[in-house]
Amino acid sequence: MAKRKFLLGFSPDLVNEAIVYRLVKDYDLKINILRAEVREQGGRLLMEVEGKAGNIKEAVRYLNEARVEVQELATYVEKNEERCTHCGMCLSICPVEALTVERPSWRVRYDAERCIACGMCIDACPPGAMKFRL
Ligand code: SF4
Ligand code: SF4
Repeated sequence: MAKRKFLLGFSPDLVNEAIVYRLVKDYDLKINILRAEVREQGGRLLMEVEGKAGNIKEAVRYLNEARVEVQELATYVEKNEERCTHCGMCLSICPVEALTVERPSWRVRYDAERCIACGMCIDACPPGAMKFRL
């Protein structure tokens, strides 16, 4: 089984289509929607997809044919190193220890592999160094 992160972009005419249902039913994928946003200019979904690698590939082909913008992501959340003051406010908030202190520099390090995109550090970070890729 493979796990991949995707950001999907929908034009307004596709917002009400049962696209996620098709991914589950036709391609036997497990979908974990981490964030969803609907605006006048369309919708966006941040999701984790789990399934057979071949099925994920076929599902991406289906999405492309359905005119859904598909962007594969390495991370859900980005850390702006220039903004981060290494204040440590986010350390105790992160439920999965994706934010830790490096020693001996005492710099705060972000591990994208551990991040589950809960968004708690984004709300807590005083200079706004953490943000969703949505
Ligand atoms: S709360 Fe923000 S500024 Fe402080 S260490 Fe975390 S990411 Fe850096
Ligand atoms: S979004 Fe949540 S899981 Fe990811 S680094 Fe921030 S607090 Fe941790």
